[in-house]
Amino acid sequence: MDSSLYVYVEDVRGEGLEAVLDRITGYGVAGLTVAAAYRRARDVTPHSRPRVTVRGDGVHFPPPEDLFDGLRLVPPVQAGAEEEPLAALRLATAERGLKLHGWTVFLESTTLGMANPDVTVRNCFGDRGSPAELCPSNPDVRRYAVALGRAVARQGVDSVVAEALHFGTFGCGYQNERCFVQLGPMDVFLFGLCFCDFCIRRAADLGVNAEVAREECARIVGGVLDGDPPAQGEVTRAALTAYAGPEVVSYARARSEVVTSLVSEVSAAVTAEGSKLVFLDATGAAKGYMDGLPPSGLSAHDSWQLGVDLVALGDLVPSLGVLVYARDAERVADDVVAYRRSTGKELRAVLRPGMPDTDSAERLAAKVRAARAAGADAVDFYAYGLMPYPILDRIPGALSG
Ligand SMILES: [Zn+2]
Repeated sequence: MDSSLYVYVEDVRGEGLEAVLDRITGYGVAGLTVAAAYRRARDVTPHSRPRVTVRGDGVHFPPPEDLFDGLRLVPPVQAGAEEEPLAALRLATAERGLKLHGWTVFLESTTLGMANPDVTVRNCFGDRGSPAELCPSNPDVRRYAVALGRAVARQGVDSVVAEALHFGTFGCGYQNERCFVQLGPMDVFLFGLCFCDFCIRRAADLGVNAEVAREECARIVGGVLDGDPPAQGEVTRAALTAYAGPEVVSYARARSEVVTSLVSEVSAAVTAEGSKLVFLDATGAAKGYMDGLPPSGLSAHDSWQLGVDLVALGDLVPSLGVLVYARDAERVADDVVAYRRSTGKELRAVLRPGMPDTDSAERLAAKVRAARAAGADAVDFYAYGLMPYPILDRIPGALSG
């Protein structure tokens, strides 16, 4: 079974290339998925130097001029990119027979969003309140995404693993966030919808009355901000129709055309550079991120909320990666089975080997077995620099079990 371990360039820099590869080779994984283009974060990194790592927005390689020349959005360049850490990893992994995948965060960048607020999501009140969220309908964002995919592919990676190549959620709009208003899941969903000019035009092209949808969103979210009780229950199409009306649901569903067409363009660009696209669906991460206890709705059934049309993408992209952030092996199996129905292509399940999802080696082994039995072609583990060594030591047993 194919497998990989997610790693950060900072991990490799802090511990040393050969030392990291020695250790990862010992885990028995088939490859590394390295963050080639990443975003801001502040992480406790238990076995690295420093012990707390502050990450920035941008790429870990010099952006090829021919790809970004004339584009409005150009990725920020990470410190140390001029040392070409990805090229060194490419050589060293090839020598060891390991694959190297290029993990790429596409549409989340506080740096780009703060400098270019008009390319970010605009909510139903007209606010540019999510500076980290670049809107996938925006033409400048789309050109940026295609160039970024091509640039990472050109690093010689076996695949470009696309994170955040879809609409985001309200909760991922920035950092150090505060909200002392109780919002239900449906309120949060409505608050996160983008109504920028490009989104409105695309919805209108599909026959959706975007202005009615926007007014309904503003009326409902505005009411909750004014003191109305929040919505109860999870987001489903039926519940959302009852809560916000059919036009809002039509508007939300029309977003999948934006994402599908963008993924198609990025995938073609990546293929043209001799690599392949792995599309990551973040739905499972949003559901189980905090505690590994996702609500009952399966991720594959809810990914439309990010503008992801799994059936359309199943035809388009050669590989689908799904984040299965759950404690329960049965839940892992159920999620993988539901995704398997939507694609006949490669299906990769991403698991967290430690907290909050996994409390023992036996549980990790059970989840790997469950993913495999449910039809996953590969398992990937997240992430080297974030997990203590004893947690990572669970991986070889889980892969061979
Ligand atoms: Zn938009």
